Amino acid sequence: MYNKIGSTKNILSQNRANRRIAVNLAPAQLSMQAAEMKSMQDDRTTVGEIRARVLAFARERDWEQFHSLKNLSMALAAEAGELMEHFLWAESKTSGEILRDAKKRSAIEDEIADVVIYALEFANIGGIDLAKAIETKLAKNAAKYPVEKAKGRADKYTEL
Ligand SMILES: [Mg+2]
Repeated sequence: MYNKIGSTKNILSQNRANRRIAVNLAPAQLSMQAAEMKSMQDDRTTVGEIRARVLAFARERDWEQFHSLKNLSMALAAEAGELMEHFLWAESKTSGEILRDAKKRSAIEDEIADVVIYALEFANIGGIDLAKAIETKLAKNAAKYPVEKAKGRADKYTEL
């Protein structure tokens, strides 16, 4: 992955909101050398920090020029396909066992990372506040799937 992350400079200059988001992504972090970068871990790394890291990676390579929202959405889908490939033909009930194989687990971690990296870059280029978007969508989902109707059921909200 990451052969096509694109030039935000032109894209962002077209959109004031996008430019504001890019500026908010900690310019100091964008110029950090790899050696100075903090080790990341879910319990201590913010979404904003990961977004800055993803943007810095693309900028260092002048890849933002390839990062149209169209390309990023397609790259995200392609990486989701690569993730699915690891589970193709596996039985649902036993698919979790695949992660017990260290080599396969590592490959699967790479693919889920690719998916999230592209999602974060999509948010970077699109000027989307991801935490806010997720909060809003979870509220919509909660309205569509009230606990009393949806608990223990896999049906679509139109079938509840
Ligand atoms: Mg991949």
